[in-house]
Amino acid sequence: MPVERTEQRGAEELHKYYEIYETIGSGGFAKVKLGRHILTGEKVAIKIMNKKDLGDDLPRVKVEIEAMKNLSHQHICRLYQVIETSTHIFMVLEYCPGGELFDYIIAKDRLSEEETRVFFRQIVSAMAYVHSQGYAHRDLKPENLLIDEDQNLKLIDFGLCAKPKGGLGYELMTCCGSPAYAAPELIQGKAYIGSEADVWSMGVLLFALLCGYLPFDDENCMALYRKITRGRYENPRWLSPGSVLLLNQMMQVDPKRRLTVRQLLDHPWVMKEYNSPVEWYSRQPLGYVDEDCITEMAVNMKRSRESTTALVNKWQYDHTTATYLLLLSKKRRGKPVRLRPEAAFSEDSGSPLQQRLQAKEALHFSEDEDAVIMGSLDFGQEYIDDCGWTSVPQYSPRGVRGQPDGADRKDILSMSPAVEKKCAYSPTPERGRTATPPHRHERKATNKEQASKNKENIAVPQKDVNIFLLPPPPTPASSRKNERPNKATLTTPNMNVSKPRAGTPKGGGSASKEHNQKKATENKDSANIEILTFSPERRSRSLDMAVQEDSGKKKRGGKVFGSLERGLDKMINMLTPNKKRALRDGPRKIKAQYNVTLTSQTNPDQVLNQILSILPEKNIDYTQKGYTVKCQTWGDFGKMTMAFELEVCLLQRPEVVGVRRQRLKGDAWVYKHLVEDILSTSSI
Ligand code: ADP
Repeated sequence: MPVERTEQRGAEELHKYYEIYETIGSGGFAKVKLGRHILTGEKVAIKIMNKKDLGDDLPRVKVEIEAMKNLSHQHICRLYQVIETSTHIFMVLEYCPGGELFDYIIAKDRLSEEETRVFFRQIVSAMAYVHSQGYAHRDLKPENLLIDEDQNLKLIDFGLCAKPKGGLGYELMTCCGSPAYAAPELIQGKAYIGSEADVWSMGVLLFALLCGYLPFDDENCMALYRKITRGRYENPRWLSPGSVLLLNQMMQVDPKRRLTVRQLLDHPWVMKEYNSPVEWYSRQPLGYVDEDCITEMAVNMKRSRESTTALVNKWQYDHTTATYLLLLSKKRRGKPVRLRPEAAFSEDSGSPLQQRLQAKEALHFSEDEDAVIMGSLDFGQEYIDDCGWTSVPQYSPRGVRGQPDGADRKDILSMSPAVEKKCAYSPTPERGRTATPPHRHERKATNKEQASKNKENIAVPQKDVNIFLLPPPPTPASSRKNERPNKATLTTPNMNVSKPRAGTPKGGGSASKEHNQKKATENKDSANIEILTFSPERRSRSLDMAVQEDSGKKKRGGKVFGSLERGLDKMINMLTPNKKRALRDGPRKIKAQYNVTLTSQTNPDQVLNQILSILPEKNIDYTQKGYTVKCQTWGDFGKMTMAFELEVCLLQRPEVVGVRRQRLKGDAWVYKHLVEDILSTSSI
C-alpha cells in the first residue's frame, strides 16, 4: 500500500475513535496528548511518536509495546490500542491525571514515612508482578510513576525493559536506565541480573521519597559513578531506624546481599501498620473476558455475543481491544457499562458522530504552541513538529494544561572507558506532565472486593508462577493523609515581553540545609577529580559522555519548594484550565494546589515583574503571554535542555498571588533546583 495511504488510514483511525486534546507530557521519544475515546467517553493518554525522529530507537518502542501488551496490573499503566502508520506510532494508554510522582515529591519537599509506605507498597506490588512475568524494568524512577484519578501509582515507560530468554535469572549486559538510579554493577559494565538492579533503583526511589533528594548525586558523572560504586550515602536525621535499615538492605553494592522483591513483600517496614504483605497479583489478569462488557459491545456492534467474544479474544490491541478494556475500566470504577448510542461501533466510518468529526474542517484550537490548524482529513501532510495535533475545543479536562514544543530525541550515551560496553542511558530528562493533584491510596479492599480479586487471580497464567515464585495474594490495607502548612514571599514590578540571552542555568536549593551544605563541599571535591563532567543543564542524566563539559558548579539557594509548599494551606484540587487564559486581561483565578507556590503578595503585576527581572540574571530565555511565562534553557550545542512554565495567578483562599509551576521538558531534579532558585531569588 502506498505510504501516504497507510499514513492517512492510521490517522483516520485515530480521529475516528478518539477526540484529541492538548499535550500532557513529553518524553525522550514521545509527545503525550490527552484524548477521549468516543464510544465509551473515557479519557485516554495518546503517546505519539514520529518514526523518523525515533531512528535507531524504534526497537525500543517495539519493546515497550510488546511488554505493555503482556502486562496488566493495577499499578501498571494499561495499554489499550496501538496504531502504526508509515510515519507515526500511536499508543493509546490509560490516562493518569495526577502527574508524575516526582512532582508530588518535590511539591511536598519530602514525604512522611507513612505516606511513603503507601506509595512504596504499590511500587513493590508493580515490580513483583513485572518480575513475575519475566521482565526487568530497568528505568525505575519517580518520573516513571504516574498518579491516577484514584491516587494510585501506575508504572510507565517500559522502553528499556528486558525479558531474558532463559528467565530473569539470566544475566544482562546492556547498561541502561538513569545514572542516578543505576545499580553499581550496571555502572561498572558488569553482567547483571535485571531484578537485582531494579531493587537497587527501588532503594534510590525510596530514598528520594523519604528525603526529597537523591542519595547519589553529582554534576560530575564520574564522581557520581564513584559514589554509586562505593554505595555510600548519608542518612538524614529524620529517617527512622527502620527506614535506614531498609534503605541499607536495598542499596547493597553486592547484588547478592541486596533484598529481593519477594523479601520486600513482607518486609517489616513494608508491613508496618498494614499487618499484611503487599498484594502483588494482578486484579486485572490478561485474557479475562467480562460478560457484561461483551453484551454491551455485542448490542452496539449488532453481532452475536459469541462472535464479539471471539473478536475480543484476539487481543489485537485495535479498537476492539480498546473498547473492551475501557468498558471494563468503567465497570471496575462503578460506572455504567454503556457505550454511547450515538457513536455506533462500526469498522466503517458510518456513525453520525464519526462523520461529524471527520468532516470537521479543522478549526481545532489547542493551547499548544505547536498545534497545527489543519483539516482533520488532511492526513497526507507530514505532522508538524512531530505532533502538531489538532484539538477539539469544547472539552475542558480537569487539571490538564497545554505544553509547547516537540519532544526532543533522546540521547544514547556511550559510557566512560571503564564502562564502555553497550551503555544506553535512558533519556530520563525531557518530560512534562499534567498539573493535577496527587493523593493516592492503596485502597482498602472490602471482603467482597478481595474475594473477587482472588477469583480473578486464579486466572493468572501458570507461566507467571514458573518464572518467579511468590507467596499467595495477600490483603492490603492503607491509609494516608495529606499535610502541609506555610507561606512565603515573592515581590515584584512591571511586565511585558522580553528575550534575554541563552545560557546556563544555575541550580537552586535542595530539600534540606544539611544536604545543601554537604553538596557544596561535594561539588568542590568533585571539581578536582573530574574527568568528564556535566554542566547543570546537562545533568539531564541521559549521560552524553562523549561531551566534555565544565562542572558548572551550581549556586544552591535555600529550600524553597519545601518550605513554601509545606506552609501552604493548600487544597489539593484540580485546575480547570481556561484555554484562552493567555489572552485574558488579568491573571487566572485558581485554587491552590500542589504545583502552586503561594506568595504573600496581592499585586500580581508585581510578582510577575519580579520574576521577569530575575530570569535574565539566571540566563533563562523566556516568552511571556499575559501572566504566563514560558522559560527555556539551552545547552552548549543549541539543544533545549529545560522548558517550564511559570504562571502568576490569583488564589481565592487565601486571597494572595500564587505562582503555578509546570515542567515541560528537562531533568526533573535540575528543574526543581532551578525553579527553587528563581523563586527564592525573587522573594528577596
Ligand atoms: P518517553 O517514552 O518518550 O520517555 P513517557 O512514556 O515517559 O515518554 O511519557 C512522557 C510523559 O508524558 C510522562 O512523563 C508523563 O508526564 C506523560 N504521560 C505519559 N503517559 C501518560 C499517561 N498514561 N497519563 C498521563 N500522562 C502521561
